[in-house]
Amino acid sequence: AEGLVGRTAEMVERRRATAGASSVLFYREPIEMVRASGVFMYDRAGERYLDVYNNVPSVGHCHPRVVEAIARQAGEMAIHTRYLNDTVQGYSEALLATLPASIGNLVMTCTGSESNDLALRLAMATTGARGFIVTETAYHGNTSLVTEVSPSSLKGGAVPPHVRVVPMPAERDGDGPGDLAARFAGAVAKAIGELQASGHGLAGLIVDTIFSSDGVFADPPGFLKPAVEAVQAAGGIFIADEVQPGFGRTGAGLWGFARHGVTPDIVTMGKPMGNGYPMGGVATRADLLERFCESVGYFNTFGGNTVAAAAGRAVLEVIAGEGLIENAEAVGGYLRAGLRQLAGRRPEIGAVRGAGLFVGLDIVDPDTRAPDARRAGAVINGLRRRHVLVGAAGPFGHTLKIRPPLCFSREHAEMFVAALADVLERPAG
Ligand code: PMP
Repeated sequence: AEGLVGRTAEMVERRRATAGASSVLFYREPIEMVRASGVFMYDRAGERYLDVYNNVPSVGHCHPRVVEAIARQAGEMAIHTRYLNDTVQGYSEALLATLPASIGNLVMTCTGSESNDLALRLAMATTGARGFIVTETAYHGNTSLVTEVSPSSLKGGAVPPHVRVVPMPAERDGDGPGDLAARFAGAVAKAIGELQASGHGLAGLIVDTIFSSDGVFADPPGFLKPAVEAVQAAGGIFIADEVQPGFGRTGAGLWGFARHGVTPDIVTMGKPMGNGYPMGGVATRADLLERFCESVGYFNTFGGNTVAAAAGRAVLEVIAGEGLIENAEAVGGYLRAGLRQLAGRRPEIGAVRGAGLFVGLDIVDPDTRAPDARRAGAVINGLRRRHVLVGAAGPFGHTLKIRPPLCFSREHAEMFVAALADVLERPAG
């Protein structure tokens, strides 16, 4: 707890003593949070922070309607998943109704990692192959199987031989229409060929459809289509990991994959699904699940329990009732415009990208324009001192990951742009 004093130093020490090497905290001066509401979080001293980062409380921290649904259901019945129940059934039907008709079944889990673990197993059982294609800085979760397809977790960098990485889908100077899509599809086609030649075979392609860990890549819409078609034509399974983009964040609809005009074989969900109540899901073609359950079967004690279903249903109702998808689209566009305007006068800002309320902003060296992770770290900590919370992403860690609750308003966007301008103008402040 170097440089820290008082209560914060003591809490950091106590945390280290219990969590050991796994204790990773945000910020040079970690924050002891005690409550949250809407787009704000409050520390122990009652200081308010603008949350521009947390996508779990996606419809707003402690949304009263979700809190009430959780509390009411917890008071009525909290139980595993082996009984008929109207809340659980109604939620499954409502969620499946938002997905393509070919995706007929839903298996509920408790985390994004569990969802992706099952998705990978479904793909392997369907294809009889082991080979997966992923992007170079992807993160898909923490089980041993999922870690194999999460290059960002593998500190040595080496994925196992049955996993092939393709470059992040970044636009390049001089790209014409279709160039990025063709480049990404070309890399995927090459990986398909390598997996087939190596004997591992092609099980599938898994991507986070907003490419969060890679640094947020949304445009041009549709760029995923040729790659997905190549995978499906070769008999592989396309898994759309919607843990980050799902539930309205990208602004055009509930799902990130829809922006690309593709039809996944499997859709995985997590984080925002229960607005803080832990829940995840795997929506899949019925034939995939049937094949898998012939040999293995799947049971998850807490996945889709009654309280989770109540939370999930409230989340869907709030997204629709409060127009949060439309808000993500409108305020996200306003925020990007404000950030681009700031980029015009601050040479430390490189590209500003994103869709809806998922924005990536590159921090670069003002002279060379090269990725500048150290400066990005300083900006994140400078924002924290100004009571604004953001994080970092991308292969160099120089991309600010801007991902506020979907009830973010224009006024909140202005607060954020002003704070970022101030940090860049007065880095020591
Ligand atoms: N997929 C993506 C794209 C994620 O960002 C994450 C979590 N950061 C996961 C899966 C794993 O979800 P969880 O932490 O709930 O297991």
